[in-house]
Amino acid sequence: MSGRKPDTELVHGGRRREWRGRLVNPPVHRASTILFDSVAELRAAAPEFGTPYYGLHGTPTTWALAEALTELEPGAAGTMLYSTGLAAVTAALLTVLAPGEELLVTDTVYGPTRRFCEGFLRRFGVATRYYDPMVGGRIQDLIGDRTRAILLESPGSNTMEVQDVPAICAAARARGVATLLDNTWATPLFFPAIEKGVDLSILAATKYVGGHADVMLGSVTANAAWYPKLERVSWDLGHGVSPDDAWLGARGLRTMAVRLRQHEASALKVADWLKGRPEVARVLHPALPDCPGHEHWKRDFNGASGLFSFVFRGGDDAARCRFIDGLELFGIGWSWGGYESLAVPNDPQPLRSVTRWEAEGPLVRLHIGLEDADDLIADLEAGLRRYASGT
Ligand SMILES: *Cc1c(COP(=O)(O)O)cnc(C)c1O
Repeated sequence: MSGRKPDTELVHGGRRREWRGRLVNPPVHRASTILFDSVAELRAAAPEFGTPYYGLHGTPTTWALAEALTELEPGAAGTMLYSTGLAAVTAALLTVLAPGEELLVTDTVYGPTRRFCEGFLRRFGVATRYYDPMVGGRIQDLIGDRTRAILLESPGSNTMEVQDVPAICAAARARGVATLLDNTWATPLFFPAIEKGVDLSILAATKYVGGHADVMLGSVTANAAWYPKLERVSWDLGHGVSPDDAWLGARGLRTMAVRLRQHEASALKVADWLKGRPEVARVLHPALPDCPGHEHWKRDFNGASGLFSFVFRGGDDAARCRFIDGLELFGIGWSWGGYESLAVPNDPQPLRSVTRWEAEGPLVRLHIGLEDADDLIADLEAGLRRYASGT
């Protein structure tokens, strides 16, 4: 780390002269075969970050993105890239776990991650136990002889509980247990995970890194204790990423700081407005004081991104669908982190096993895009009228 501020790292990270020549952006380098000058050179070569060896192990396009992500995380040793965020999650878990071991997972984890734990990891011989996202330092009571890793996600999927990441990581480290954080919501700009004690920091780069809803990508950034094994396991699993996708990811990354700040401001404006509406029982946004774990957000985060949820005061799914279906500026679809606004219905209880979700009515998750916030509020206001009127 050079001590430069994160916004500067975003602009300059990974743009080595040897990778970009005289261009501003490192171009798309496509390769499977890398040619050597002699048998002796071929025999002497080995896969290594930044050295051409074979397509799987990267080209200047993928190294540039990986290095830029590493430079965003003080304390990081390196970054591996994946074709999706989910592939990043599963590769990170397979890096730290072996058959016979146990994994602790936050109860508000991303749904497909839970499915991987219940299906693949179970068959692989790894048992998963879920914990209350608000457990904090009491996680130490859950760590058993076979516990090898703890997966965190903060804030939690859909219901936005902010975890006490430093306390959980300190308890884990004292027992030699690895910690992994799905940091997709905050990105390293708003939560420098490795600095806070996390061993492996995971991003669905599909979201804010890409930023334009047109690329699937994942990344895992690791500290020095875990990076060599992460690299080994990822290559053993055959994980590589297309240079076109890496190029799109790098292109998105350069503007991530300004985009995130606008997502933050607009989402806060919309969240505050929703909070004052009689049709809304609760707004689940880490920057609002009544969000579970708000004090951790205030202490540990540098900002809030554009994704949050709210709960209606009463009403049923039909009313929720009337609200969502008629929105003009909000798309209906999975994923988030692009420049556009989205609205989806979510029902948290089926995705939990050790905590209960009690709510006054149905829940809607919003992603606030880069549209004018007042236009978004007008759209939502019309939606609340549809919700309340029954038509
Ligand atoms: C979207 C998402 C993922 C998975 O990313 P994909 O690129 O869609 O596979 C993982 N974790 C969280 C928190 C996400 O929101």
